[in-house]
Amino acid sequence: MNLIVAEKNISAERIARILAGKGKVTTGKDKGIPTYSFDDAMVVGLKGHVVEVDFVSGYDDWRSPENTPRSLIDAGTRKVPTEKRIIATLQKLAKKAGEVVIATDFDTEGELIGKEAVDLIREVNPKVPVRRARFSAITPQEIHGAFADLKDLDTALASAGEARQVIDLVWGASLTRFISIAARRGGKNILSVGRVQSPTLAMIVDREKEIAAFIPEKYWTLQLTSEKAGEEFTARHATARFTKKEEAEGARDRTRPPILVREVREGEKVDRPPAPFDTTGFLVAAGRLGFSASNAMRVAEDLYMNGFISYPRTDNTVYPKSLSLESILAVLQGSPFAREAAWVLENRRKEPTRGKKVSTDHPPIHPTGSATREILGEERFRIYELVVRRFLATLSPDSVWKTVRCSMEAGGEPYVANGARLVTPGWRKVYTYLEAEDHLLPPLVQGDRLPIKEILLEEKETQPPARYTQSKLIQRMEELGLGTKSTRHEVIAKLLGRRYVEGNPLKPTPVGMAVIESLEDHADAITKPEMTRTLEADMQEIKVRKRTKDFVIGESREMLHRVFDTLEKHGEEIGREIMGRADEERVIGPCPACGGDLRIRTGGQSQFVGCSRYPDCGFNINLPSAQWGKAIRTETCCPEHGLRHVRLIRKGARPWDIGCPLCSHIKASEESLRLIQGMTPEFMKKLRDHHLYTVSEVAGRDPGDLARILGISPGEVQGLIAGAGDALALLRKRSELRRFIRAHLPPRKGRSQAEVMKRLGELGVGDLPALARAEAKALMEVGIGPKEADTLLSAARSAMDSRVLRDAGIPAASLKRYREAGFTRPEDFCFLHPVFLADRTGLSLDTVYRHAALVCGAMGAKVPAKVAKARVEKGREELLGVPGLGEATLEKLHRAGILDRDDLSGADPGELARKTGIDAEALRGFIRHLGKKGKG
Ligand SMILES: [Zn+2]
Ligand SMILES: [Zn+2]
Repeated sequence: MNLIVAEKNISAERIARILAGKGKVTTGKDKGIPTYSFDDAMVVGLKGHVVEVDFVSGYDDWRSPENTPRSLIDAGTRKVPTEKRIIATLQKLAKKAGEVVIATDFDTEGELIGKEAVDLIREVNPKVPVRRARFSAITPQEIHGAFADLKDLDTALASAGEARQVIDLVWGASLTRFISIAARRGGKNILSVGRVQSPTLAMIVDREKEIAAFIPEKYWTLQLTSEKAGEEFTARHATARFTKKEEAEGARDRTRPPILVREVREGEKVDRPPAPFDTTGFLVAAGRLGFSASNAMRVAEDLYMNGFISYPRTDNTVYPKSLSLESILAVLQGSPFAREAAWVLENRRKEPTRGKKVSTDHPPIHPTGSATREILGEERFRIYELVVRRFLATLSPDSVWKTVRCSMEAGGEPYVANGARLVTPGWRKVYTYLEAEDHLLPPLVQGDRLPIKEILLEEKETQPPARYTQSKLIQRMEELGLGTKSTRHEVIAKLLGRRYVEGNPLKPTPVGMAVIESLEDHADAITKPEMTRTLEADMQEIKVRKRTKDFVIGESREMLHRVFDTLEKHGEEIGREIMGRADEERVIGPCPACGGDLRIRTGGQSQFVGCSRYPDCGFNINLPSAQWGKAIRTETCCPEHGLRHVRLIRKGARPWDIGCPLCSHIKASEESLRLIQGMTPEFMKKLRDHHLYTVSEVAGRDPGDLARILGISPGEVQGLIAGAGDALALLRKRSELRRFIRAHLPPRKGRSQAEVMKRLGELGVGDLPALARAEAKALMEVGIGPKEADTLLSAARSAMDSRVLRDAGIPAASLKRYREAGFTRPEDFCFLHPVFLADRTGLSLDTVYRHAALVCGAMGAKVPAKVAKARVEKGREELLGVPGLGEATLEKLHRAGILDRDDLSGADPGELARKTGIDAEALRGFIRHLGKKGKG
């Protein structure tokens, strides 16, 4: 069998269908892993890497005194399986393989993925011949061509990939561990540092500092409006920027009508079409359409796997000779862009455009198949369309503008007016993303004397440099040699994911600033691009076999040791600096009560916003529990309270925007404030003005204070505070019921717990005691199933029962003994004999009597009469002396209040049998025996 290994399942299936041609492809499944077979071949897809590099065991403990962060630099590494089922399937198939073809993506990463697969295959089939299929698109032409011309695996390329893996692991792990320990960060809050990541973050931080340090300078512009033949136009002063206000004003005052047209110069401007797409160019263009770099890349990869576009990871901006542009145009004639393709065919430029970078591994990104919006869906279609239009543009003629430059004079002051008109749209006809706006002037002629309609003097300011957009950053990373076409967008995604940067354009967070500033001060090599660039260059050298993998890894280890030499000297300072700055990130704005800093605070799962002047200021706002996400501040600021908005973030979940915590606090509290008897909207406003937002704040406030705030009499205030107390009690009961429902009623689709609460309230079930009294039928009306209703009711009843017992004064330890013996209802204490309770629980009779008196007293029931302990003991002996009457029977008799021989002799056997469940005949026997004994 010929085993073909593809990079992913989706490409495996496509490759199989292409190679099988008209033949049938049989889809199989092995341990859940799909396989595709035809003729004597079988194709299986990997999941990218199926193994990963990790340290040899023994380096997991961050606090280990022997294995310090620095020790990771020289720690041994190994490959550990990450996709066990795929590996098992691969090895099972490999045993039967007569030949193996690696058909992963053709680049460093793909070559390494291929080599990893080969290593796994050789473990079970050491001698099997291995070949490599190289292609740049998963299209019939490329795939057939690649399989007709199989090559060897490029071990140098794979080695370069391996070197990168090891170097990135060693750098990332050792530096991350060092910095995190220094800043006392662990668990999910570690501070990651990385070889490419940190210099990239440093660029963003440096830009932010430039912006902060920027001092805007004022300048003035002068422009006038005139008209000819009813057409208005504007002209600007020949001095584009006046740096002194007086000069601008002087020029304005000297400007007098008429405007004299001195010279009209006509020209032509030619716009060449853009160059073919490499990865960076593609990401920049997709960024303009609103795609983040990682999203654009994900969509492009998907289109590649499905045969719609060529391989999207490429540094090449020149179409190779071997690429048939005609056949691509032919393919597009069957696409929604048929009209554009036909136009290009007719008007095609002699040579396609070309960019500056040429490489041989892959052609520039271009379309390889025809697709419609229906097939692809909106998002994928927009990216596909972008690739198609760019490709068409590169074959299209130039666009041509007619330009006019007109020099004028008014009162001796020189003015200019520029006009431009697109006369030949050329490539802009097919590449519709760049706006081409005409700027038209009326037909001006030398010697024209025109009126002045308006003169405008404007004061402006120079602007700071702009923040990086994702695509600008990717361009800059490329210029600096940071990362590769395959990794740059991932690095940015990581910076965002780790909350080092936020927003678009990208802005560093205080933690991001702190980490970089501290590293710049103490170990700036990590934040500069040089080291990383050197390593990238070395890895290129591995590809062309100028250096070995081991040499480059060794060199990187030496660099890292030098970094640690300085880092270790300043560990404490670095930690202190970062911790201080990280704290800033929690400040959301001024405390409304005292003006101190409000901070997001956490303790375990609970999160709240509290004042930095605690305990002097007790202002705080509760936030939802951390199980719904970690609370962070966002960029947005509440215009009313000056507080940053709060958002809950959780991995794999949509973020939950709380908005301004004070606004939402006020909104939530208003409803409960209205529960207070006598509360009015005016009172609520006055309370708000004095930062009293909740019922409990009102209930706990000093009456004199409150009277002053509300402007009412002490008598009225007493009433209001009493009302607040009642409202508080009601709210507590409600929230108890809410918690209970949440704990006992599993959430179900289409039934929110808030809805259940509301409908229960309508039925008059507003607290837990009411729920315990409710009937199952009533609950079913609220949308609770019969089984759920039973469980909920019995849970509510038993909760209420234990509350009665607890409230009656039975200590928790005894309560537990009763519960274990099966006594949970308060009624048990009134209707079961205390002696029986004592038997079953092992508690002393005195104790049980005391408890029974408490419970029955609380329930208003008759307290059982007390029986002396001595009598019980004597009676026990008497009864156990009766033949056939053992401990079990005695317990049953106790339950019915039969304590001694007199009680038993006087009982009616039939009734006692019913009460105790003891056979009536046996009872008669016992009584007869006692009678005999009594007579004797
Ligand atoms: Zn405060
Ligand atoms: Zn607000």
